[in-house]
Amino acid sequence: MELMDSIYELKGVGEKVGDKLQKLGICTLKDMIEHYPREYEDRRKLTPIEECQLDEPNNILARVCSQPQLTKKGSRIIVSFRVKDQTGQLTVTFFGQAYMKNNFKLGETYLFYGKVKHKYGYHEMDSPEYQKVTDEYNLGTVAKITPIYPSTAKLSQKVIRGLIDTCLKEVLPSVEDHLPERIRKQYDLVEKKEALQGIHFPKDSEDFFRARKRLVFEELFMLQLSLYQLKADFAKKLLGISHGVTSELRAFMDTLPFELTGAQKRVMREIVKDMKSPYAMNRLIQGDVGSGKTVIAAISLFLAVKDGFQGALMAPTEVLVVQHYEFIHQIMEPFGIKVGLLTGSTTAKQKRELLKELQEGMVDIVVGTHALIEDNVEIPKLGLVITDEQHRFGVRQRLKLTEKGTIPDVMVMTATPIPRTLALILYGDMDISIIDELPPGRQPIKTNAVSSDYHPRIYNFIERQIHEGRQCYIICPMVEENEKNSELRNVIDYTEYLKTQVFTQIPIAYLHGKMKPKEKNEIMATFARNETKILVSTTVIEVGVNVPNSTIILIENAERFGLAQLHQLRGRVGRGKHQSYCILVSDSKNKVTKKRLQIMEESTDGFVIAETDLKLRGPGEFFGTKQHGLPEMKIANLYTDAKVLKEVQACVGKLLQMDPGLSLDEHQELLNEMEARLNDESLHNAL
Ligand code: ADP
Ligand code: MG
Repeated sequence: MELMDSIYELKGVGEKVGDKLQKLGICTLKDMIEHYPREYEDRRKLTPIEECQLDEPNNILARVCSQPQLTKKGSRIIVSFRVKDQTGQLTVTFFGQAYMKNNFKLGETYLFYGKVKHKYGYHEMDSPEYQKVTDEYNLGTVAKITPIYPSTAKLSQKVIRGLIDTCLKEVLPSVEDHLPERIRKQYDLVEKKEALQGIHFPKDSEDFFRARKRLVFEELFMLQLSLYQLKADFAKKLLGISHGVTSELRAFMDTLPFELTGAQKRVMREIVKDMKSPYAMNRLIQGDVGSGKTVIAAISLFLAVKDGFQGALMAPTEVLVVQHYEFIHQIMEPFGIKVGLLTGSTTAKQKRELLKELQEGMVDIVVGTHALIEDNVEIPKLGLVITDEQHRFGVRQRLKLTEKGTIPDVMVMTATPIPRTLALILYGDMDISIIDELPPGRQPIKTNAVSSDYHPRIYNFIERQIHEGRQCYIICPMVEENEKNSELRNVIDYTEYLKTQVFTQIPIAYLHGKMKPKEKNEIMATFARNETKILVSTTVIEVGVNVPNSTIILIENAERFGLAQLHQLRGRVGRGKHQSYCILVSDSKNKVTKKRLQIMEESTDGFVIAETDLKLRGPGEFFGTKQHGLPEMKIANLYTDAKVLKEVQACVGKLLQMDPGLSLDEHQELLNEMEARLNDESLHNAL
């Protein structure tokens, strides 16, 4: 039989079973052998009947010592008989399966596996799994480590296990190993056949670990290889603009209010190199909150415009867009560069005008929300597209942009701290620059996690800071009172309380996502001008907001936020020269929650925080697997298998260096396998 044969070719798969298998996503024999166990039960160990634990599965070796009897209780058929070993006896019972009466013979020995219950003064094992034993002294063939499969209610473990066993016997001989022998030897990996046998029916734990390592390695290897290949394809195909570097750059840099940090300079050099090259830039700029990404965007836009092109900067929220616009507009104006703004509160008339000016090339840079890549926006001389925070262009969107004409350079800026190994998968098609240094003079933010009885002291502290001229954010998890979560602070009621009971002399404003964009902008602007001192808000200010005079962020019900989110929120302070503070209030007694808040107290390093969060919660939740399009893995775990992933990345790198087109004979298998994967829709969706 062949791997790609349908499951219906397999003995024991009729219409009924076939249907159920398909529900599990198993259509071919290949799917079947790649349906890996979810866990294992060690049934090598036997329990004497006398020592069986009640209500737990036990594995017993016993002889049938009474003739099986068939009785009826109402319409229910019951088959039962007694079994015994040297230590005791119990009753074995089957329900609704009359044929069981003839399955067991007096005097024969079986291995039974099932829960033992205490019923009417007797010990009873209901509907156990069983296996006949012909040689009591050679149990190795029956008492084994037993795989438990992901399954549906209607498909018993015994059936699915039996099918996989049959399937392995049929197809293993024709399974080919597409990992070259050289790599297998170097990384100490067992052969594919051995690995498949070992993952389903391991003889012992070593056998299992060897098998798993090999399969994990292979899965990650194929993923990485395909990603590199895609990346190389795009690099090859996307001939873009070769930007010249204007002589005005020096003068422009001199007008900036600060000198770039070493890390910013390095990243700028990487960008300039990309912009000069004839290929389209596709670069991810990663830098912790406050590391100074905006100015990098501004300089790059300046270069593109001075080279005769137009530029676009996109950000996820209107508040952020307006803030970027103001900064960029202000530093570009002296150089005769016209900057436009496109947001949800741009009126229809303004928008018409802007689109016209963009189309005619009168506006050089447009700052806006995602609406910018909509079809009706025409930017004929688009040379550089930058997205800030959150959003990234997938390969598909890049292709869409290219349909608009010349292929622009693309840059994505993010503060999401992604471990490098994962970044290679998430952003496998992009080059990565890292700003790993904060601007000078920043004092580390002081963080304290406290319970709500600290409120009086916290309010006093805020008041003193405000008297010294500083400002404060207060974050609540809810917008307004909500019946289900009435114990949680909400923006509306809490603001009212603070205004009337606590800070009666201090100007307070509030902000949340349900407000109209225009209103939000005005509130943000008054806060930025230091006219309001306290801003009570939901997480709408989470990304990007920059008011360096704010030195306190008080986060209520801190247990409601993810660590990455808390880190982002905390990044709203500590942006200027003053000592800043983050106060996390939580009354949660939950151990994990306490641990997470403690990490916030101990570290201000986004990477450390992300990594700890990954450990506590797993990568899916941290990144939101769907949102980031982490490809689905059959056996590998992108986080816990990080060590293997590193090995794999080094291995694939070397391989492609040696044989970039995989044209050597020994790599033919690999090439075929990879091409099959590149045609796989799910991989493309992940990019
Ligand atoms: P983020 O990386 O979080 O987007 P921003 O670009 O908003 O950070 O920068 C944070 C603050 O640091 C801003 O007030 C910005 O003006 C300031 N800044 C950026 N680069 C420098 C620098 N090299 N020296 C001093 N201050 C800087
Ligand atoms: Mg930013």
